[in-house]
Amino acid sequence: MRTYIFGPVPSRRLGISLGVDLTPTKTCSYDCLYCQLSRTRFHTSERSQFCDPEEVLRELRSVLSEIARPDWITISGTGEPTLHSGLGLILAEIKKLESAPSCVITNTSLMHLPEVRQELMLADRLLPTVSTVNQRSFQRIHRPTSNLRLERILEGLQLFARDYTGSIEVEIFVCPGINDSAEEIAGLRDYLRNLANLESVYLNTAVRVPLEGEIKTADQGLLNNFRTALNLAIPVTTAFEHNFIPPRSSDWNRPAASSDIIKLLLRHPCSEKQLEQVLSSAPDTILAMLCELVTEGKVKQTSNGDWTLID
Ligand code: SF4
Repeated sequence: MRTYIFGPVPSRRLGISLGVDLTPTKTCSYDCLYCQLSRTRFHTSERSQFCDPEEVLRELRSVLSEIARPDWITISGTGEPTLHSGLGLILAEIKKLESAPSCVITNTSLMHLPEVRQELMLADRLLPTVSTVNQRSFQRIHRPTSNLRLERILEGLQLFARDYTGSIEVEIFVCPGINDSAEEIAGLRDYLRNLANLESVYLNTAVRVPLEGEIKTADQGLLNNFRTALNLAIPVTTAFEHNFIPPRSSDWNRPAASSDIIKLLLRHPCSEKQLEQVLSSAPDTILAMLCELVTEGKVKQTSNGDWTLID
């Protein structure tokens, strides 16, 4: 039974990614309007040792011995990973394993803390979210804990980027009607143009059914217009251009089981094709397992054809 490691999962930006989840479900400094998981259960910006780093690393080593080399070991999951006070130790140990490069997906909220910046230096890649430079929009989109100030967060990311030698890809979560005005985009453009070592920008949107009615999905046309208005000299890609899941050879030491599907869907709704690729299984096998899970009332198919868990 795994507690901290999930996947490998197909990731829009990372190919085959083995996930590391360091916080209890929905422990987060934000409570984003667009969060796919649920409302934040433990809303905090206090760092803590939510789990024993040694246990995480033990489980990680064990999973790595069972699977083919993933493209990335990604620290993300069901909460904000920089809230874990052992993040630096875990990243340092991942580096020693030499199994795959490490990546941290962060909501950026703790970048004002020097210790967080120092720990994140150990990651090979950072995917921070910066959806606005406007405090009011920040409050509306992310619903942060009351002590967080956007200005300090943005300054912290600038300080970090200046010295970081890994790669940075900023995610902008486009929320139509909130952060897509000309003024909002101009503010983001000015900030991103001054962010050292920024390699690329990813325009995300609520591609899956949002949990809250207030948030709308941006279509490809809106994202294209957003990209044009950003006018950056680095690659800017969108959620709709990242649907290709790379094929993967079958190196599992055991046949896929329906529990593997549950673990994948817990973090990431998937199409049948994606499940076939990630679990290296025939279409009939995946379909049979999905039928079994439907009968058990555990999964359902969404209107766009992806499979997801039933709460
Ligand atoms: S930062 Fe991530 S986990 Fe936290 S509320 Fe926002 S989307 Fe959900």
